[in-house]
Amino acid sequence: MILAGLRLYELENLMQKLKATKFRAKQIHNWIYFKSVSTIDEMTNLSKDFREELKKIAKVTETKIKKKQVSKDGTIKYLVEYPDGECVETVLMRFDNRANLTACVSSQVGCAVNCSFCATGKGGFKRNLTYQEIIEQVLTIQRDTGLKITNIVFMGQGEPLLNLDNVLKALEIFNEDFQIGARRITISTSGIIPGIDNLANMNLQSTLAISLHAPNHNLRKEIMPIENRYNINDLKKALKNYIDKTGRRITIEYILIHGFNDTPQVAKELAYFLKDLKCNINLIPYNSVIENDFKKPSNNDIMKFKYLLEHSGKKVTVRLERGADIDAACGQLRGKNI
Ligand code: SAH
Ligand code: SF4
Repeated sequence: MILAGLRLYELENLMQKLKATKFRAKQIHNWIYFKSVSTIDEMTNLSKDFREELKKIAKVTETKIKKKQVSKDGTIKYLVEYPDGECVETVLMRFDNRANLTACVSSQVGCAVNCSFCATGKGGFKRNLTYQEIIEQVLTIQRDTGLKITNIVFMGQGEPLLNLDNVLKALEIFNEDFQIGARRITISTSGIIPGIDNLANMNLQSTLAISLHAPNHNLRKEIMPIENRYNINDLKKALKNYIDKTGRRITIEYILIHGFNDTPQVAKELAYFLKDLKCNINLIPYNSVIENDFKKPSNNDIMKFKYLLEHSGKKVTVRLERGADIDAACGQLRGKNI
């Protein structure tokens, strides 16, 4: 049995079977999620005899670090390996001026959505991650660094809304077991409408981020094949419904690709498209991925685009590039040991 991923009540049930007190469950829970140990032997406030007994039936984890890369800017990228040999990447980002420690987690091995600007989609889709495998990524970071993660973004490999049950279960564990506030958790999607509709009917405090990347159908479908399945006008209706039902502000993510979707005319069209949506906008200058010849815009063009959107009354931020020297920036995760 693997202990990582067990809820407090599940540990309590286990203790009952082992004829140990409820308090032991609390101690073990603390070792797993807060002190982030890798082995039962490290749970030093349990008696030696009890640890031996527990070791006969349980292990903390079977997830391994296959590769670790540290960027100049402090970002760390891990290639995490699960017992079946499949790997995903997970990234720890720290921002100098803030106490936040953000984990960027993967929700699937590969991704079927296959956006043209993203390295993850290139390898195709392998399988969904279980909720235990999702939380193991955060535990891996905590075990390796000794730090406690404060924020989670579902912006690693995979499309979270195509693995919604596991993502929601992981979210619950992040919230209740890791004690990470739901408001500090963001789910990013390429626009899977049924998933957005499901989220609209739940009372989640987390942020929904939408990878929009273009203000109209024709431009969007050039870079995102998902546009042929869930088109931008239906997507907008789903987002309006989500905002109406939850009262929450969403985040619009928008990659800026030089000469493609970064012109002043497109900025105005985007501002018009977003006019009646309660949202903040996060601009992501394109990060290079070898398989295509897109380029990032100049700083001047980025600022012009930002200005035009701000002019429409929205809050606009430009995402800081993190870990590009180790291919850990947005869209650069491919989950391979190369
Ligand atoms: N599949 C989900 C979540 C993971 S991607 C989604 O697409 O929303 C996280 C963000 O990185 C998305 O907004 C995605 O569009 C963006 N991204 C992908 N490739 C990129 C690249 N090459 N440069 C910059 N951002 C990229
Ligand atoms: Fe999948 Fe997101 Fe990459 Fe598109 S951007 S291929 S949805 S991981």
